[in-house]
Amino acid sequence: MSLVIIGTVAFDAIETPFGKTDKIVGGSATYVGYSATKLGVTPKLVAVVGDDFPHQAIHDFKNIGFDLEGLQIKEGEKTFFWSGRYHSDMNSRDTLVTELNVLESFNPVIPESYQDCTYLMLGNLAPSIQKKVISGLKNRPKLIAMDTMNFWMDIAMEDLKKTILMVDILTINDEEARQLSGEYSLLKAAEKIQDMGPKYVIIKKGEHGALLFHGKEMFYAPALLLPKVVDPTGAGDTFAGGFMGYLATTDDTSFENMKRALVYGSALASFTVQEFGTNKIKEVTSDELKGRINEFKSLMSFTHK
Ligand code: AMP
Repeated sequence: MSLVIIGTVAFDAIETPFGKTDKIVGGSATYVGYSATKLGVTPKLVAVVGDDFPHQAIHDFKNIGFDLEGLQIKEGEKTFFWSGRYHSDMNSRDTLVTELNVLESFNPVIPESYQDCTYLMLGNLAPSIQKKVISGLKNRPKLIAMDTMNFWMDIAMEDLKKTILMVDILTINDEEARQLSGEYSLLKAAEKIQDMGPKYVIIKKGEHGALLFHGKEMFYAPALLLPKVVDPTGAGDTFAGGFMGYLATTDDTSFENMKRALVYGSALASFTVQEFGTNKIKEVTSDELKGRINEFKSLMSFTHK
């Protein structure tokens, strides 16, 4: 089944207690895309970069299996830039810089070959642009998931609410779920967010795993305990790519299958955090992924006497 992904393709500069990077390749769509390829999906990318974006990175995207027909390269413009610093708990971070650059005038164009889209992942991006992509598809996809962050709540809440109304699944972290709903209890927050449109809400809790809500149904996938977490950047996007990649590859949107997808997303995210940027997720093999899924299985199962 075909998976269309929109989001940022970016330069990131990251500081964690384990080190610091200069500008490296990142962006929500980059992580979502890399993650989906690990499930045998060809992600069809809708994104924009400036002419400062390295040819090598584009080559890497192609090599790993991205469809780049929807990637615009803008002459004379600069790629989106984000810089962040993680606190010592590695769960929270401060955004130091967000330079929208080429994103400011981004008008997403959906290639004809993307019109078969059955699964749409709206990675973190301006909500007005996310909405344009939904409108640019002639047929509504079978499933639309959307990710967002506090940055957009702060500067574009009205647009954000309009876009949220159009999607089936919202993925959001715990702090942002509280900000969006005005509720401290995540149970109540999930309920309120479902009232805003999405039938499914996924609340990401960093090193404490992820929760899936659908009406009265609920499921929890823990995060794996890792010996070392080097850089959490992109964990949420990798999670989303794994979740949607799994649903697209199995073409099953039942709640039971979403539970499995949640575990696949969590397993893939556990790789991303082990090295800076995309270094680890890029290289993950299917055997490594199988190994992690088995670790989840034993972590999550018990017998009842
Ligand atoms: P995550 O750690 O999963 O929240 O995602 C981090 C990625 O999101 C980085 O690679 C950034 O380039 C990208 N990013 C940061 N801020 C924004 C923003 N306001 N809109 C879209 N993408 C962003």
